[in-house]
Amino acid sequence: MSGSAWDQALAQLDQAARIMNLDPNVHEVLRNPKRALIVSVPIRMDDDTVRSFTGYRVHHNTSRGPSKGGIRYHPSVNLEEVKALAMWMTWKCAVVGIPYGGAKGGVVVNPKELSERELEALTRRYASEILPLIGPERDIPAPDVGTDEQVMAWIMDTYSMNSGYSVPGVVTGKPLAVGGSAGRRAATGRGVMYVTVATLKHLAMPVDEARVVVQGYGKVGAPVVQLLSEQGCIVVGVGDVGGGVYNPRGLSPVGLASHHAETKTVAGYEGGESVTNEELLELECDVLIPAALEEVITEGNADRIHARIVVEAANGPTTPEADEILHDRRVRVVPDILANAGGVTVSYFEWVQDLQAYFWTADEVNAKLRKVMEESYVSVLDLAEERKVTMRQAATILGVQRVAEAHTTRGLFP
Ligand code: NAD
Repeated sequence: MSGSAWDQALAQLDQAARIMNLDPNVHEVLRNPKRALIVSVPIRMDDDTVRSFTGYRVHHNTSRGPSKGGIRYHPSVNLEEVKALAMWMTWKCAVVGIPYGGAKGGVVVNPKELSERELEALTRRYASEILPLIGPERDIPAPDVGTDEQVMAWIMDTYSMNSGYSVPGVVTGKPLAVGGSAGRRAATGRGVMYVTVATLKHLAMPVDEARVVVQGYGKVGAPVVQLLSEQGCIVVGVGDVGGGVYNPRGLSPVGLASHHAETKTVAGYEGGESVTNEELLELECDVLIPAALEEVITEGNADRIHARIVVEAANGPTTPEADEILHDRRVRVVPDILANAGGVTVSYFEWVQDLQAYFWTADEVNAKLRKVMEESYVSVLDLAEERKVTMRQAATILGVQRVAEAHTTRGLFP
């Protein structure tokens, strides 16, 4: 039975702890988020009424450094989900070896229903409410589902106004004009591309003409479609909240992008036939890339997934039950905490550049990203083969091991 995302995250930790014989005292610490803040975010709407939204910021663990994690604006945001996403951030930062702990934030809201002014008010008030928790040495937010560069700029400005001077390093995923990094916008998708290519090569499957299906066409999914097409892959299916499109001969990335720019959805793109989001996941393909929300591959559909490889661009798209079914069916799953770590990696580069006030070129950023992703991929793969475990178990073990080492080296306070 599937539970919440938090149950899923705990189950993954517990399983890794069992396999690696984790010290039960360390396990106990890691099962609990360090702190969780629930805030009320009242704003004046355009019709002059006041509405209160609920927001969260969770720090899961800071043993390896300040915490890092996105902010999500979505109607289904809840504390359990934010806790799970924060825990996954802890392992993710450790897997790619960047000196951060894990955090996540969110507001229960559909940002598409707000005007620009309301969105700015919501963001500034939410930022003010979580102000005691964030800061360049403390906790550094970034974009996630429903938030973007502009939202990050408003948070940076709100924090800076309270400090009395500009603090670009308080958030990442900012516009270039206020201390953003070259290459950040497509970084998560670029990292997904690197690990997808590495997986295809490892399984001796040709990259050229590999058939790919992508669920989600946002900040992560859209660059994935573009970058994998550039590698010679054939993107046969793409979907978003509005629905999906399928063309076994391939969808034009340029055509999709211009259709999306016009209509804000890939649904209805005339270069393919319409499919539902359920059908999309079950299409004939070599690689399936969920890049939308969690828990989309479940025990209900896992045995109908045709892909040979699932690359988790989204966080938590596969439930533990589905994971087992996919494993039994020999579907290779490249787990979220490895596959989508390109975003936090370039966020780390952005933070380093902000702190030094010295900026790198896109080529420098992409080359450093590629090195981190390919080396992390090899570390996880080697561990999986050595321990005879899945890539997810290996990635979780690697992350937990590094966090546990930092925790025990520092010792339990007081
Ligand atoms: P986004 O808001 O930019 O895009 C989300 C996409 O998912 C949109 O295309 C939306 O239409 C689609 N979607 C939403 N609900 C859906 C549904 N019910 N069915 C099908 N499609 C649906 O968000 P994003 O930043 O691209 O994030 C996508 C996933 O990647 C999330 O799981 C996020 O946590 C993860 N992620 C994002 C980053 C990043 O840098 N933005 C980094 C790591 C992981």
